Amino acid sequence: SDELLDAAASPVLVVSESRSESRWSDTRSYSMKKKLQSWFQLPNGDWALGKILSTSGAESLISFGDGKVTKAKSEQLLPANPDILDGVDNLMQLSYLNEPSVLYNLQYRYNQDMIYTKAGPVLVAINPFKRVPLYGNNFIEAYRRKSMESPHVYAITDTAIREMIRDEVNQSIIISGESGAGKTETAKIAMQYLAALGGGSGIEYEILKTNPILEAFGNAKTLRNDNSSRFGKLIEIHFSETGKISGAKIETFLLEKSRVVQCAEGERSYHIFYQLCAGAPPSLREKLNLRNANEYKYLKQSTCYSIPGVDDAEDFRTVVEALDVVHVSKEDQDSVFAMLAAVLWLGNISFTVIDNENHVEAVADEGLNEVAKLIGCDIESLKLALSTRKMRVGNDIIVQKLTLSQAIDARDALAKSLYACLFEWLVEQINKSLEVGKRRTRRSISILDIYGFESFDRNSFEQFCINYANERLQQHFNRHLFKLEQEEYIQDGIDWTKVDFEDNQDCLNLFERKPLGLLSLLDEESTFPNGSDLTFANKLKQHLNSNLCFRGERGKAFTVCHYAGEVAYDTSGFLEKNRDLLHLDSIELLSSCSCQLPQIFATNLLTQSDKPVVGALHRSGGAESQKLSVATKFKSQLFRLMQRLENTTPHFIRCIKPNNLQQPALYEQGLVLQQLRCCGVLEVVRISRSGYPTRMSHQKFARRYGFLLLESITSQDPLSVSVAILHQFNILPDMYQVGYTKLFFRTGQVGVLEDTRNRTL
Ligand code: ADP
Ligand code: MG
Repeated sequence: SDELLDAAASPVLVVSESRSESRWSDTRSYSMKKKLQSWFQLPNGDWALGKILSTSGAESLISFGDGKVTKAKSEQLLPANPDILDGVDNLMQLSYLNEPSVLYNLQYRYNQDMIYTKAGPVLVAINPFKRVPLYGNNFIEAYRRKSMESPHVYAITDTAIREMIRDEVNQSIIISGESGAGKTETAKIAMQYLAALGGGSGIEYEILKTNPILEAFGNAKTLRNDNSSRFGKLIEIHFSETGKISGAKIETFLLEKSRVVQCAEGERSYHIFYQLCAGAPPSLREKLNLRNANEYKYLKQSTCYSIPGVDDAEDFRTVVEALDVVHVSKEDQDSVFAMLAAVLWLGNISFTVIDNENHVEAVADEGLNEVAKLIGCDIESLKLALSTRKMRVGNDIIVQKLTLSQAIDARDALAKSLYACLFEWLVEQINKSLEVGKRRTRRSISILDIYGFESFDRNSFEQFCINYANERLQQHFNRHLFKLEQEEYIQDGIDWTKVDFEDNQDCLNLFERKPLGLLSLLDEESTFPNGSDLTFANKLKQHLNSNLCFRGERGKAFTVCHYAGEVAYDTSGFLEKNRDLLHLDSIELLSSCSCQLPQIFATNLLTQSDKPVVGALHRSGGAESQKLSVATKFKSQLFRLMQRLENTTPHFIRCIKPNNLQQPALYEQGLVLQQLRCCGVLEVVRISRSGYPTRMSHQKFARRYGFLLLESITSQDPLSVSVAILHQFNILPDMYQVGYTKLFFRTGQVGVLEDTRNRTL
């Protein structure tokens, strides 16, 4: 049995199957043998472990632990691993690498609070939804001294530090997974380890304190996660020559602004609003004329104000402390809170009809007064900005009155912009405080915590952007792993051009191609005054239907074949979200304010435009700032991100959510499997299978299978013995390569040898 473990440690032995399959599927020529442990697929899709009692033809009799016996067709069965491999800490050690075996192995470990497992070079982390005794100084110390080596975020982070110092190459830790899978917690655990090892200057304390701030302003309760990040984040942590943390820089992506003005039943807006309402000290309450959360319409609509186990008032104090630590002055803090209050009061502004054409005017009520006071403008200007729009007609500028729905849109757009600008400004302040010297060192570790692939019943613009980002990240992931493969082949002198490698370039092209790609067509349609979600959808169908990754659907929908599966997008709201217009009237209002923050916001909003203000008063469509579309901005941000990541040595962590109830000790096979497929864990396997994943030295191969030779051979050197074995077992030349020191096999090739060996022993 030592031998078995030994052999399992490096090569992967897989049952033979067709190589053309892109996924582990259930159709494979697995020869059923008596007494073999086997996975049997139940009608609900789950897998149960049984033992084959007898086989006849394509059918087997299989018995289970509880004494039940069932007839099974061969396609319902997959080979199970010997008990001795239960709970191996790297999936690559499994002799049989199939879906049920992987699921079982992960569950076996999860049940014992071993939430981390390696899948080749990738760390898989399963959310325990409870405290697990794996963290803290003792563990950090153990991983640092290498007295502990089981898979862990600490271990990955430790490797990153060591490689950074050894190779003088920037590192990255790329964390992905769906909402609630544990990405943000994992990122914090990695930061904790970095702070412990690279601490000393005190800046590590500041870095850790950015977490409560960003979580307060960028996280919210959703139906999937009570503390869901509604933005993507990259934090780049820099080190000195002596390995001490010297500074950090944070970049954020695609904050979900719509949540400020709209959120679903049972969800909440951003934590900071509730924290402010619950935790502001009396003087601040008075100054901002603060009310309880349930008196603000923006917060009231979802009828959810609190989160079990969360004390918003207490959290408010934590945020204030953290703001102190990152050197946001008390004065600036007050301005921040005033902006938050202004956003809340904006939601309470109502409108009244003023003529028989349904035009409206903002009511001069408490909401209007408070907003004007908080941002520092006069009430009349605010009223005008919310109820009228300047338009250019020929050479004249006329003022158009707004209807109720237009006015509400203008008001909500202002609230969303204020909040998004505030968020950006805050990140900028934090970055100033953590400032790294301008000089580029090759000693940084970046941690990326970004939303994973999303596929819901209804998928909109947000999923479209997120999934596009994930295609890019997946390509990065594939290419990196493939490169690792190649290096080993080259080292051993084998011809790696024979390794076929499939990547997702086609899908990326579907998004990025100009002028006939999804993003270009979206931008084009967004600039047409008469463009609508329907005309956009039609244009896609007209131009892209021949693309294999695209399928037009009925009405306003279309489907993209992503690497992680097909997603149907509903284009409703695409154009509006992509344009993300803020009336120029609103920007002008902000720049006329006496308070500093609104002025800064106005400047930022205008510099984001690619045209000067005057040029923005254009077209019959109205006076809107001609800024870059959201998709274009996101794309260029993504390109910059990828460029940065390309220059790092990546380390991948894939977070998995074992159930949708945020409950401990509940492992749903189907849900886990779907994520393993989506977040590319199965892809790692697929990539390695498209090469020569099974490797064994000539010696080991000869020793392990030499006794199976039926005819004696003259030369006894390991290579000759190996070649004789290959001949005897009829392993086709395409299926293996002989390296200087090792034999490299395609997937499944050694399975036959292994089976024969086991039956012979
Ligand atoms: P994501 O960022 O992927 O959406 P989070 O990191 O916010 O998910 O995790 C969601 C919740 O799961 C956390 O609030 C926490 O309760 C729990 N959780 C995640 N990782 C761990 C962990 N390692 N130990 C304990 N609880 C965890
Ligand atoms: Mg998160």
